[in-house]
Amino acid sequence: MKSVDTKVREIKLFIDGEYVTSSSNSLFEVKNPATQEVIAKVHEATKEDVDRACKAARRAFEEGPWRTMTVKERCEKIRRMAEIIMERREELARLEATDVGKPYSVAFEKEIPRSAHNLKFFADFVEQLGGEVYPMEEEYLNYTRYEPVGVAALITPWNLPFMLTTWKLGPCLAAGNTAVIKPAEATPLTVSLLGEIAKEAGIPDGVVNVVHGFGPNSTGEFLTAHPEVDLISFTGETTTGKAIMKTGADTLKRVSFELGGKAANIIFEDADLNKAIPVSIQAAFLNSGQVCLAGSRILVQRSIFDEFVTRFKKAAEELVVGDPQDPRTNMGPLVSEEHYKKVTSYLEIAKQENATLITGGKRPANLPDYLKNGYYLEPTVYVHENPEARICQEEIFGPVVTLIPFDTEEEAVQIANNTQYGLNGVIWTENLQRAHRISHQVRAGTIWVNCWFVRDLRAPFGGFKKSGIGREGGRHSLEFFTEAKNICIALK
Ligand code: NAD
Repeated sequence: MKSVDTKVREIKLFIDGEYVTSSSNSLFEVKNPATQEVIAKVHEATKEDVDRACKAARRAFEEGPWRTMTVKERCEKIRRMAEIIMERREELARLEATDVGKPYSVAFEKEIPRSAHNLKFFADFVEQLGGEVYPMEEEYLNYTRYEPVGVAALITPWNLPFMLTTWKLGPCLAAGNTAVIKPAEATPLTVSLLGEIAKEAGIPDGVVNVVHGFGPNSTGEFLTAHPEVDLISFTGETTTGKAIMKTGADTLKRVSFELGGKAANIIFEDADLNKAIPVSIQAAFLNSGQVCLAGSRILVQRSIFDEFVTRFKKAAEELVVGDPQDPRTNMGPLVSEEHYKKVTSYLEIAKQENATLITGGKRPANLPDYLKNGYYLEPTVYVHENPEARICQEEIFGPVVTLIPFDTEEEAVQIANNTQYGLNGVIWTENLQRAHRISHQVRAGTIWVNCWFVRDLRAPFGGFKKSGIGREGGRHSLEFFTEAKNICIALK
């Protein structure tokens, strides 16, 4: 089945309720990672364009009516956005699969519905929120209001473009803020539609703005430095988080960072391997391993190590690597040439570090001709005894995992914690006490026991150590997107 999308779209900025061109008329190209064909020419936002977007968002915040309308009215409009997303589900899933190279089935079944749910969830959640009242004093009444902060910069990466942007936009809007969104330069297609979807849902002009462009010395930096921006919600690399923090420091911006990870997926000898192996395969290779939560270090107890290696290798080799639009495909290409070069540089590093290659490590041999230029890499599995090796420490963000043997519980915990990251961890055991014990000892924001990537949107999500600052999810997101105000009234 050949289903290459050959349309070249012109992607404009969305500022103050309308599509506009870049003030410099500078356009950059976006390619389909499965074929290297150009699929979009994107207007790059200059400093002047970012200024217009931030000022539009400021005016929409100050003058209202977004901030001042009733919560019910605001939340109904956000829920309408969610409905429009579901009405356009197929189109959005197609675009996401074309832009990112992820299987269409994953975008259609999971990511687009989850994106709609991100908006609906926070609209419903905010409608249920109460404040605090301290009624026991005779002379004074104290109560608390949660008010919007102002203009938010929402900056997102390329691995889950639409899902992660709506995950920020939901609480941002529900709390009454206005937004300037900057999607990743490699994957702007779906997010570029959010402004028009907001407008169709009845959200006032200037509340949702979308600017496109690059990071350092470009659109991203202009946005994070802009004096009208009050808060920055950022998901991306740890090094970018550091740069944004520096840029935002001059104007003392509030920041929320969801950064990189290098999760340990710990398999104890009493684990149910019939469950642990297929889920570990998912955790390693979903979205070609381009997932911050990927279980990229698989720690396996030595007594079952050989059996695990044999079965994991077989399962990895059974994955269908191919055209993202084909329903049989489990794994597509990597997102871009730049990223392909980064990921494949680790194949050389692994060789120098004397890692043992179990499977993969090259382009899939059986790709059809029309995918011959795609950024494909086979699911790649190494074994390494040394958890200090670079392939065990650095975020490769591709379909490359390392199996590391361990002997004792203490050793597993020590290896798991021996990284700069702390986003999540995974534990496989049938022993309840051990599951709790290890969950407490692994220093990470989320621990999954006998499962992976199961999310309750009320639960906190975020990283320990260099994996982030703050938490997203339910009331945690709202804490970030609101200012708490106490009001004290004399009763006598
Ligand atoms: P990235 O940091 O390179 O880019 C993310 C976004 O930041 C892009 O929109 C980019 O243009 C922008 N940017 C880059 N430099 C900037 C600067 N100096 N100022 C302002 N904006 C700037 O990340 P990426 O390569 O797009 O995404 C992959 C990374 O994202 C991985 O490290 C992954 O772990 C992380 N991630 C984390 C989570 C999480 O929830 N913790 C989720 C998904 C991805």
